[in-house]
Amino acid sequence: MTQEVLNQTILPLLYMAAAAGFILAIKWMNSPATARRGVIVGEIGMLLAVVGTLLRFEVVNYQWILIAFFVGSAIGVPIAYIMPMTAVPQRTAFSHACGALASALIGTAEYYKSFSDGKELSTVVMIALVLETLLGFLTCTASLMAFGKLQEILPQRPITYKGQNFVNLGIFGAAAVIGIALIVSPGQMWLFPIFAALALIFGVLLIIPIGGADMPTVIALLNSYAGLSASAMGFALNNQLLIVAGALDGSSGFILSIIMCRAMNRSFTNVLFGAFGQLQVSAAKTEARPVRSASPEDAAQILDAARTVVVIPGYGMAVAQAQHKLREMFDLLTKRGVNVEFAIHPVAGRMPGHMNVLLAEADVPYDKLREMDDINPEMPMADVALIIGANDVVNPAAETDPKSPIAGMPIIQAYKAHTVMVIKRSMNPGFAGIDNDLYYMPNTLMLFGDAKSFVSSIVKELAAVGKAA
Ligand code: NAP
Repeated sequence: MTQEVLNQTILPLLYMAAAAGFILAIKWMNSPATARRGVIVGEIGMLLAVVGTLLRFEVVNYQWILIAFFVGSAIGVPIAYIMPMTAVPQRTAFSHACGALASALIGTAEYYKSFSDGKELSTVVMIALVLETLLGFLTCTASLMAFGKLQEILPQRPITYKGQNFVNLGIFGAAAVIGIALIVSPGQMWLFPIFAALALIFGVLLIIPIGGADMPTVIALLNSYAGLSASAMGFALNNQLLIVAGALDGSSGFILSIIMCRAMNRSFTNVLFGAFGQLQVSAAKTEARPVRSASPEDAAQILDAARTVVVIPGYGMAVAQAQHKLREMFDLLTKRGVNVEFAIHPVAGRMPGHMNVLLAEADVPYDKLREMDDINPEMPMADVALIIGANDVVNPAAETDPKSPIAGMPIIQAYKAHTVMVIKRSMNPGFAGIDNDLYYMPNTLMLFGDAKSFVSSIVKELAAVGKAA
């Protein structure tokens, strides 16, 4: 088969199938019921894209590609197994840093290669190269900073100083001006390293004033930048699939960050310039007020007597990996005729879809997972709201205290249930660092302990009651 036949028939077909795979993957990942199918079709799409690209005539030497393949796999595969589910945000940040660096380095290579090849760089290609390298370099360092903050290698609190936004915008402005100068006059090669250095520095400075609390949202935004960089690379390399895949990545990352901002009632500017973590430190004192606590036996009896139980999982369930025990509890209660449903807050846990993924892993039926807006009107009818390691997402201060750092954030209205039971280890605050009035309400029982062991004890009690009956 000649290269021409390949380029004109096979390659477009492979790329079209890959693009369709990516679009279907995003569509199917929208629901837990189809998410697995979405992942598989996305992987097949990527395989087709890689095979198609390797068949292209530009590939002159497969040796380096093979080396890169083995080195990349040797790093990527262990990371996938070693890092726990709760560390997915930092793992994602690290992947973005690598992807963005690859994009920026390809742009840099294309720029310098054009001179050694004696090729003239058109304005359109230069615009694409400048965008690709600017977004690529800044996303690389910003993602590494986000990784460092989430992994607690770097301090989580926001670092701010007077005139910070001015300095940041100044550096970005200088990079943009040099970028324009390069587009107008591509031959000024000495400008390129300055341009790249400014983009790298801007990435670091962009993240410094943002607290660890806001990193998952920022990561979604950086995902969007990395996608746009890849899309620009598609224009520079005349690769249609990169344009499509990059645009999908760019837009979905952007939409995700907007959804997360809305779910936390935060604006984009507040996330990027708000230095949110500082509020947490000052607000992190919990009051010494009396609370009512209960044992696993008490909790099992209350659950056994209920008709409707709404389970509200949060970050603590993920930390304790309590989802499988929860599934056992769900089975026992369902067998007894108790209607058990799971209320899912969009930002419960530490990444979007965190609770859905864990509950799906434990095979909790999808139709039992209810979205916040859907279940809230039914909360007054619930006999028991069983909160497992959730805190901010059920904090009534979001509705009642306009000065609260989470004021206006939509919550799951657990406080409306007849009885509220909260499994957590202590009275310590959650992510936003604030006290929770829910714990002091007369209809609330605190179930102190690790989520997994407490749910295990409830399961044992329920099983014992079941045998005795
Ligand atoms: P949260 O407010 O962080 O509270 C989690 C609670 O779990 C803590 O109060 C902790 O209390 C408890 N906990 C920790 N380990 C536990 C264990 N082993 N067993 C039992 N309990 C345990 O969590 P959330 O209610 O899920 O709220 C999520 C927060 O993250 C929100 O503020 C949200 O805005 C933020 N956020 C989420 C995302 C996202 O994409 N999901 C992104 C950015 C920010 P103890 O220490 O007393 O046990």
